[in-house]
Formats: sequence, C-alpha cells, structure tokens
Amino acid sequence: MRVLLLGGTAEARALAEQLCDAGIEVTTSLAGRVADPRLPVGEVRIGGFGGVEGLRTAAAEFDAVIDATHPFAKIISANAATACTGGAARRPLLRLERPGWADRSRDSWHWVDTHEDAAAVAATLGRRPFLTVGRQEMFRFFADLGGHAVLARVVQAPDQPLPDRWSLITSRGPYALPGELALMAGHRADVLITKDSGGEYTWPKMAAAEQLGVPVVLVRRPARSPDVPTVYDVAAALAWVRTISTMSG
Ligand code: NAP
Repeated sequence: MRVLLLGGTAEARALAEQLCDAGIEVTTSLAGRVADPRLPVGEVRIGGFGGVEGLRTAAAEFDAVIDATHPFAKIISANAATACTGGAARRPLLRLERPGWADRSRDSWHWVDTHEDAAAVAATLGRRPFLTVGRQEMFRFFADLGGHAVLARVVQAPDQPLPDRWSLITSRGPYALPGELALMAGHRADVLITKDSGGEYTWPKMAAAEQLGVPVVLVRRPARSPDVPTVYDVAAALAWVRTISTMSG
C-alpha cells in the first residue's frame, strides 16, 4: 500500500507518522514555499507537479492519495480532485481538513470573503492590526492598511518590502496563549486579522483576542469540491487508508 500525501500542514505530518507506524508506505508532497520546511517522517518530495496532468502522472505510482493541504490551498486541492477522478488513472482520493472556526464564532468576529475585504473592514476597526494571514497574502493588505501600524507574523519573510509603519516577526506555530497575549498586548493590537485556518494549532491567538477585547476579522474558507470524501481528523484518515488497503487486497 503506497500513499501520496499532499502536505504542508501539521495534520499531514501527524498522519505521515501514523501511516509509517502502521507499516504503510507514505510519500509526502510539499510545495516548496519555505526554505526550511518542517519535514514529516517517510519519503518526501518537494515542488509542484506541473498542474493536473503532472499530479495525475505522479498519483499513478500510488494506491491512494490524501489531500491534507491547508484549507486555503485551493488550487492543489482542485487539481487533486480532477487528477484522481475519471479516466484510467483514477485513484482513491480523501480530503483531510481540520474543522473551521465558524462554530465558535463570537459577536466580536467579522467574517469576510476575501483578503481585500478583510483589509477594508480591519481599517474601520483599528489602527494597530495584528496580521496573521501568511506571506503570500500580505501584499493584499497594503492598499488599505499601508499607513497602519501593522504587526505581521509569517513563517518566512516576504521578498517585497513592507510599508514603513509595518513590523514583521517570523516564527512558526503552534503558539500558546500566554505568548499570544504578551505579543498582542505588547503591540497594543486593536484588531486581529486571520484566515479561518481552523483547528487548535493557531486557536490561542483567537482566545487572546477575546481576553483582550480585540475584534477579529476572519476570511472565510474557499469552496471545495463536494465530490471528494472528507474527514476532519487524522484517526479518520488512517481508518480510510486501512479500508482502502483491505479492499485492494
Ligand atoms: P495552492 O495555491 O493551492 O497551489 C499552488 C500550486 O502550488 C499548485 O498548483 C501546485 O503546483 C503547488 N502545490 C501546492 N501544494 C502542493 C503540495 N503539497 N505538493 C506539491 N505541490 C503543491 O497552494 P498554496 O496555498 O500556495 O499552499 C502551498 C502549500 O503550503 C500547501 O502544501 C499548503 O498545505 C501549505 N500551506 C498553505 C497555507 C495557505 O494559507 N495557503 C498555509 C499553511 C500551509 P503544480 O500545479 O505545479 O502542481
């Protein structure tokens, strides 16, 4: 049984470990966005596949594919849905996605559909935003928040220069509540901007915002293919692999 695991998330690393422990061969695929990625156990390949056809060719070497990429990594998930369904090279595909935060929504949360909307709403809520949407999306906040005292947290510094009033911290989660409280209080953050990444790893910033009375602007998750079976935790993904493994004899 060989599994291709589309990764780049803590859940994918946890699943890779459990698959290896279960004696299942796993190759994790990373996009190669960060220079020093946290590597999972098992085989690792790094870099894009070259679109749907490249992914289809790669997937043909495996018995099953698990898309455990980030909820906002929309293109690779769409590519996996297309590559693994239909045609002779069809492969069983599972989506592993951490639950979003919509169920935990608070009155002080402002939901928006795009990063540009998040910037516009945050501009009305505060002057000292704490921006945690990642390096790739940061530039989308320059127009509305270029003159604000933004504290931006990213894993890897962006290539482009930031507006003069912005400050940057590079770090990697998971984060704990005391540190999040200290960081936001230290910056005197008056609005938190985040994606609905969901799960527990980055929840402490949401708890810190609530404790400090700071409003939150959240970008909703992109829509996904309804045709791909989806599970919400690593144990369920492992169970799915076991089922596929039994079926394929
Ligand atoms: P994306 O926009 O959905 O994908 C853009 C292209 O990057 C894809 O077409 C694919 O290139 C390549 N790619 C993406 N994920 C890949 C993977 N796991 N293995 C091989 N190629 C991959 O992706 P993204 O939002 O830039 O995210 C890139 C990676 O970072 C993902 O693995 C994701 O799990 C991780 N990540 C993303 C976020 C986020 O907020 N977006 C946050 C944390 C981690 P080809 O078409 O050439 O195959």
